[in-house]
Amino acid sequence: MQNWYNIFPKNTGLSIYVWIIFCLLPFYFIFRSSSSTEIIFGIIMILLFFLSYRLSFISKSWPVYLWVGVEMAISIIMTLFYGYVYFALFLAFFIGNVQSKIGFFTLYIVHLLTTIIAVSLSFFTQNELFFAQFPFIIISIIGVILLPFNTYNRNKREKLEGQLEDANKRISQLMVIEERQRIARDLHDTLGQKLSLIGLKSDLARKLIEKNPDSAKAELSDINQTARTALKEVREMVSDMRGAKLEEEMIHIQQILKAAEMEFQFDGNAQLKSTPLLVENVVSMCLKETVTNVVKHSQAKLCKVSIKESPDELRIIVQDDGVGFSGTSLGNGLRGIRERLEFVNGSLEISQANGTIVVIKVPNAIKQKAKEGLI
Ligand code: ADP
Ligand code: CA
Repeated sequence: MQNWYNIFPKNTGLSIYVWIIFCLLPFYFIFRSSSSTEIIFGIIMILLFFLSYRLSFISKSWPVYLWVGVEMAISIIMTLFYGYVYFALFLAFFIGNVQSKIGFFTLYIVHLLTTIIAVSLSFFTQNELFFAQFPFIIISIIGVILLPFNTYNRNKREKLEGQLEDANKRISQLMVIEERQRIARDLHDTLGQKLSLIGLKSDLARKLIEKNPDSAKAELSDINQTARTALKEVREMVSDMRGAKLEEEMIHIQQILKAAEMEFQFDGNAQLKSTPLLVENVVSMCLKETVTNVVKHSQAKLCKVSIKESPDELRIIVQDDGVGFSGTSLGNGLRGIRERLEFVNGSLEISQANGTIVVIKVPNAIKQKAKEGLI
């Protein structure tokens, strides 16, 4: 729902004060008129214009065209009778927001023609005030020509950017799901089969141990062998996991920050040695989202990234010198990071000090477990 002050067009390159002047100015033009009937008629027209302008923003489908029609009529009346041209700019801005291509072009052409005709007619009917503001009238006509396209293209670009961001999110979600499924399948195929073999063989060894200790011994060494093979396979599986490498992600990050004209400082080493590839994939995605957030939300000039790998944990710190963390609740991006990190027993901490500091930590659990001989 829009607020009442949304009648002031946004992002037009003109400050809101200019638009306030455009709202007050018509009253000045009206009070120049001699008769009080003219003044009252003019005030009614202005109020009616703002009412229909507001209604055109909140309406959908055909009433939009009705209200724009009313506005155009009022704009023509104001131009012809009072020499006030600037309602045309309000209209020009609004027309750029019309999503349908046919609707946009129809309104654009009708508006341009009616404005030019009304201005031309006013040259014969208006007094010197109209001529005094001649340069502004020319600027208004240029605005009527350019403003709708500017707004229309910007809206289109924003829509595409939104779609692209959604698609990127969806792709990274699908990548995580696919990776999980692959891990589950691999685990089932390798470990599942070996474990049931170990189960069967240990059962057999238990039965044989008294009657035929030698065969039981053979079974036990088979079990030992099978367990070793399973361990080897799991290790291979973990090191085989494909996906984004942190080093490659660092290149992307540098490109993003360069495009956003932010300074980049790096500390540490992106070539991970003792971190499993699965963890590397997960932190690469988290790093990308964190740096995108710095670009999108922080308004910072500097972004520092530090990657430190110690024997028992991997720690990534992303620090900016921007406005500080403003998110009262986590959005999809940060929630996604948290979920992915949970998957590898990692954690996410956000704090503030001259900007935002995001710390991503992942314990080197797989390595520790390997040391303990669990895998
Ligand atoms: P989204 O980026 O879609 O808004 P996120 O979960 O990625 O969602 O971020 C949630 C919110 O956290 C953002 O809307 C923003 O207000 C805030 N935020 C995140 N990172 C930063 C940052 N580096 N500086 C300032 N605010 C941030
Ligand atoms: Ca985000």
